[in-house]
Amino acid sequence: MMGVFADFALVEQGKQMHAYAVKVPSGSETSVSNSIVDMYLKCGLLDEAERLFNEMPARNVVSWTVMITGYGKHGIGKEAIRLFNQMQSNNIEPDGVTYLATLSACSHSGLIKEGEEYFSQLCRNRWVKPGIEHYACMVDLLGRDGRLKEAKDLIENMPLKPNVGIWQTLLSACRVHGNLQLGKEVGQNLLTLDGENPVNYVMISNIYAEAGYWKEYEQVREMTKAKGLRKEAGRSWVEIDKVVHFFYGGDDTHPMIDKIHQVLKEMERRMKEEMGYVHGVKFALRDIDEESKVESLRVHSEKLAIGLALCHGGWDEARVIRVFKNLRICGDCHDFIKCLSKIVKVVFVVRDANRFHQFKDGLCSCRDYW
Ligand SMILES: [Zn+2]
Ligand SMILES: [Zn+2]
Repeated sequence: MMGVFADFALVEQGKQMHAYAVKVPSGSETSVSNSIVDMYLKCGLLDEAERLFNEMPARNVVSWTVMITGYGKHGIGKEAIRLFNQMQSNNIEPDGVTYLATLSACSHSGLIKEGEEYFSQLCRNRWVKPGIEHYACMVDLLGRDGRLKEAKDLIENMPLKPNVGIWQTLLSACRVHGNLQLGKEVGQNLLTLDGENPVNYVMISNIYAEAGYWKEYEQVREMTKAKGLRKEAGRSWVEIDKVVHFFYGGDDTHPMIDKIHQVLKEMERRMKEEMGYVHGVKFALRDIDEESKVESLRVHSEKLAIGLALCHGGWDEARVIRVFKNLRICGDCHDFIKCLSKIVKVVFVVRDANRFHQFKDGLCSCRDYW
């Protein structure tokens, strides 16, 4: 149950279950506490998770790993590392998952040197061997640092067979750094490996679109259509006064949709005036006129959810608005929320498929790499 609440970030229900666990004997089991800590972390309540973790009478490798994972997703790599070292001084041996959590924490926080150190520590470890996920983490780390060639060499020389995930990691690094040449090559590898996965086509078409190669972009889109592939729809949700509101991209079914659009337009106007913000129209990824691009960007599900929260003044005492999304947040929404956090003086915490983004005073905790 706790896992379900964690995945959907249903913090009220999670708290109720936590309260129940306190009252029953089995609730004091370490595994139960672990899942409660995990729930708080996934709901974005770092303080609650920390408190509970510190109060646990007994902690096992899972407890430490859950906490390290949480710090990683929140972009607090230094804390993740501190915990990783602390668990070892408490004589708890990290397992493969702990290493993965630590490496990914380094990657999410841009701690390149540290990540490389832990990876080589893992390679020397007598009991735990690096798996494909650990290599993927290193590819992400090197990719973030712009070392794309090194990342590719690592994939080609590792003792394991590359999978779809690791090539996808490299492909998104190519997109971020605008390396179309390598991106094309990696895209080809991906299609050879898994030509039925809509995500691969979307990633490849995006890299063309961002480089302005609209003809190639259309070709990939046509291929996707011909194969009848459709990617998972983007979906975001926000809780206001104990009610969870779900939005799809382009959703116009919410009873307050007109008000939402009005608020979003007003915000855009203020951003333009106060900060010179212009919609990152390249993110619309379609060769259409500017106005329609802005229009289609405005209806992304995460924006709609934020628009609703703004209509309601739906922030907590600390002026934090929490939004959750099933897919990766798009670059334009990312820019938009950064600016928004500055002009409305609200902190936005967005959990996307990869991590938490904390937008505060015009900056994001991911430092624009995710
Ligand atoms: Zn977006
Ligand atoms: Zn971010």
